[in-house]
Amino acid sequence: MEQAALFTIFGGTGDLAKRKLYPSLFRLYKKGNLTKHFAVIGTARRPWSDDHYREIVRETIQDLAPTEEEAQEFSNHFYYLSHNVNDTEHYDQLKDLADELDEKYDLQGNRIYYLAMAPQFFGTIVSHLKSQEILTTTGYNRLVIEKPFGFDYDSANELNNEIRDVFPEQDIFRIDHYLGKEMIQNISVIRFANNIFESLWNNRYIENVQITFSEALGVEDRGGYYEHSGALKDMVQNHILQVVALLAMEVPTSFSNKSIREEKVKVLQAIRRYNPEEVLQNFVRGQYDAGTLDGKDFVAYHDEPNVAEDSLMETFVAGKFMIDNFRWSGVPFYIRTGKRMTEKGTRINIVFKQVPVNVFSSEQEDVSSEEELPQNILTIYIQPTEGFSLTLNGKRIGQGFTTEPVKLDFRQSAEVTENSPEAYEKLLLDALNGDGTNFSHWDEVANSWEIVDRIRNTWDQTTPGFPNYASGTMGPQCAFDLLAKNGHEWAWQP
Ligand code: NAD
Repeated sequence: MEQAALFTIFGGTGDLAKRKLYPSLFRLYKKGNLTKHFAVIGTARRPWSDDHYREIVRETIQDLAPTEEEAQEFSNHFYYLSHNVNDTEHYDQLKDLADELDEKYDLQGNRIYYLAMAPQFFGTIVSHLKSQEILTTTGYNRLVIEKPFGFDYDSANELNNEIRDVFPEQDIFRIDHYLGKEMIQNISVIRFANNIFESLWNNRYIENVQITFSEALGVEDRGGYYEHSGALKDMVQNHILQVVALLAMEVPTSFSNKSIREEKVKVLQAIRRYNPEEVLQNFVRGQYDAGTLDGKDFVAYHDEPNVAEDSLMETFVAGKFMIDNFRWSGVPFYIRTGKRMTEKGTRINIVFKQVPVNVFSSEQEDVSSEEELPQNILTIYIQPTEGFSLTLNGKRIGQGFTTEPVKLDFRQSAEVTENSPEAYEKLLLDALNGDGTNFSHWDEVANSWEIVDRIRNTWDQTTPGFPNYASGTMGPQCAFDLLAKNGHEWAWQP
């Protein structure tokens, strides 16, 4: 259905706007969610003309093969305003332009403000939107904000107070683009639409849960940013804890924004808060050294551009979360994420408990086979392939009762994956529809920071022995020892 709205993109010349936002808006345009009644104001410091801006916008959608006419018509809805976010006068120009476009395109006062800029500017932009009376009184005013939301609990809380002074919680859309991914959304469907899983989804049947977000890439040209963030804040505070919440939450009473958020928050509240000693027992970190992968040599993290030679920043984290509630008591949720690992992949392994007794143990032909059967594992593949698999034990054909593992494997075809909507496209449409389900609520962000701050603060008191893993490996030895000391191992070992 067509939506009428004015998008104001702060940071309109930036990487995110060009790589993600403009192509996503174009997809929505092609699908008819945006047609005549929309306009986009791009703002940034550079002195661009509308014509130049439109040309850039057209370049960003080339991969989507628009016709000349489509590209022209779409880009004609884009307007550029040179704007320094610290300059109050510029907001007055923005107000005039916004009001003019509202009338021209009949936008009914509906506004989406997208902050695609470094977070230190969020507070000042939002307070100016209010003080310069840019917010409308007729339609809606929604704020979309990029990560990171603060750099610890205190800064996030301060930022939140500034924003909440202007926008009510239901109009704030904190982006965690993982929540827009097809297979992350599929977690809820796998759980709540399949009785065979939901009835087993607890500590009676599940031994442990493993979440891996691995990257083969190094820090690339983001050294400056990464030196302040590290893997813990870059990945665990947001994406990984969101996935833990989706995997562990109770069944919501309905699949609505409010019910899901309530259930996710309860999980985050139930995650055990570790004292410093427990942090050191349950979380380990790593930094990549030089190494070789697929015949290519890679430099160590501390030799990357914009990284200090003696940097103590982690490029890898592994840890164990415990959720102290009836459903999950005693079940470790292991997580790991890192750069320069063997393979790029985001996947979840749900490792089920063994059957109580292996009645086939005396039947095994293979004398070296262990007495216990291999465990059933449900794997959810988030990226690059999308799908899920289930390993079961079957009978090997022939005499006797020798068991062997079999794998039921479903992967979306490359064609389906390529044509599925981009995360940003879905999230922009959600924001247009006012649906906050796939965004992070403040209570989620606050709890996540509380959990992560404890780890960070403990780590900051000790000096790690970095670098401790070679590029192209699945992380330092301590990440394997972490599971081994509980008698577990990583199910995914590429
Ligand atoms: P970028 O550096 O490419 O773009 C920043 C934009 O802000 C530019 O348009 C720049 O002109 C503008 N800007 C800077 N200072 C300004 C000022 N004083 N007044 C007005 N405009 C100013 O950054 P980016 O990669 O596009 O990232 C933007 C935000 O999105 C960040 O919060 C980042 O963490 C987040 N993010 C980016 C990506 C990505 O893929 N690039 C992914 C996830 C999150």
